[in-house]
Amino acid sequence: MDLAGKTHFYSLTLNKLQELMMGSGKERFRAQQLFKWVYEKDLTDFEQMTNLSKDLRLQLEGQISFALPEMVDRRISTDGTRKYLFDIGQCQTVEAVLIPSDDRKTLCLSSEVGCNMACQFCFTGKQKLKRRLTAGEIVGQYLQVKKDLDPERITNIVFMGMGEPLDNCEAVFDAIDIFKNDFGLNIGRKKITVSTSGLVPQIPLVTASGSRLAVSLNAPNDEIRNRIMPINKKYPLKDLMAACKEYTEKAKDRVTFEYVLLKDCTDDIEHAKQVAKLVRDIPCKINLIPFNEHPDSGFERPHKSKVFQFQRYLLDKGFHVTIRKTMGRDIFAACGQLTSLYKGHPQKQDVLTGTLG
Ligand code: SAH
Ligand code: SF4
Repeated sequence: MDLAGKTHFYSLTLNKLQELMMGSGKERFRAQQLFKWVYEKDLTDFEQMTNLSKDLRLQLEGQISFALPEMVDRRISTDGTRKYLFDIGQCQTVEAVLIPSDDRKTLCLSSEVGCNMACQFCFTGKQKLKRRLTAGEIVGQYLQVKKDLDPERITNIVFMGMGEPLDNCEAVFDAIDIFKNDFGLNIGRKKITVSTSGLVPQIPLVTASGSRLAVSLNAPNDEIRNRIMPINKKYPLKDLMAACKEYTEKAKDRVTFEYVLLKDCTDDIEHAKQVAKLVRDIPCKINLIPFNEHPDSGFERPHKSKVFQFQRYLLDKGFHVTIRKTMGRDIFAACGQLTSLYKGHPQKQDVLTGTLG
C-alpha cells in the first residue's frame, strides 16, 4: 500500500488480484480483464477500460495505484549496455542493467537495496541490507526499461542485480508469476533466471516457479568459500551441490554455475581441478566472471592468461564453459557501482555531473 492507502497494481499476482476483487464483492474474472488492459494493452486509465462498469471503475480509482519506480538516471555504453538507476523513495535507489548480445536483450534486475550475504568481493555486499523490494518495484524496473527500449524488446530476465533474490522470496516469486502469466507479461518461464549465493532451503522454490537456476559458486572448496562467502558456513558445498543436483533432475535443466575469478584467491589451476571434481555429476554450464574491480575491495582481477588457462582446463574436461565479457565499463555497469556514484541522493544534477571513468 502507498501513503494514500492504495494498493500497488504491479505488486499483485493474478491470484492476489482475484482475491481483492472477490473480497470487495466483484467477480473473479474482473482480475483477468484488468490484467489484459494493463499488461497487454498498456493502459492504466480506468476511464478507458470499457468492459468494466462505471461503478467498478470508480471503486478501482480509489483503491489501486500504478506508481512506478522513477528512472533518475540512464546511461548507454558504447557497447550498447544500458544502465538504469531507479528512485524507490526515501533516498534509496536500485539499478537495472540491459545487456544486449547478438540474439538477446537480457535485463538484469535488482531484488534488494544492499544485501545481507556479505560476500567479500561484492560491492552490494559491502552495504548491509537496507530494504527488500516489493514485487511491484521489481516488475516496475522491467516496465520502465521496456518503455525505454520500445520498439525493441527485452528477451530474457536475470535476477543478478543488487541483492539476494532468495532472501526476498515472496516478492521475487510474485514478480516472476506476473512475468510469466499469460494475461500478465507472458514471458516464457525458461527466459527467467534466478541467481543465488546458495540459500539451499529456498532453491526448490526456483524449481517450482519454473524459472532457471544460477548459483554463484565462486570458490572451489569450503575453506575458500567460507572466507569469501559467509553463507557457506550455514549451507556448505555438500548441501549446495545436492540442491543443485535435485534442481537438474526435477527441472530437467542444467544449472549455471557462476565463478568469479579473483587473483591469487580462486584463479589457480588447482582450483579449476577442484571445481571439475565438485560439479562433475551435475549437468551444468560454468560461467567464469573475471572480477570487476572496485575501490577498497582488497581483490584484483586476474591476468587474462590465467582466465583462459582456467577455462581451458575445464573445457578439456568436457564442461561447457564461457567467460563473461565485461560490459558497460564506461558507465559503471558492475553491480552497485552507479549507486555509489549517486550516493543515494536522488538529485539528477549530481549524477550527470559525476566523474565518469
Ligand atoms: N545475490 C545473487 C545475485 C546477484 S550477484 C548472487 O550472489 O548470485 C550476481 C553475480 O555477480 C554473482 O554471481 C556474484 O558472484 C557476482 N559478482 C558480485 N560482485 C562482483 C564483482 N565485483 N565482480 C564480478 N562479479 C561479481
Ligand atoms: Fe549479495 Fe550476491 Fe553480492 Fe553476495 S554476491 S553480497 S549474495 S548481491
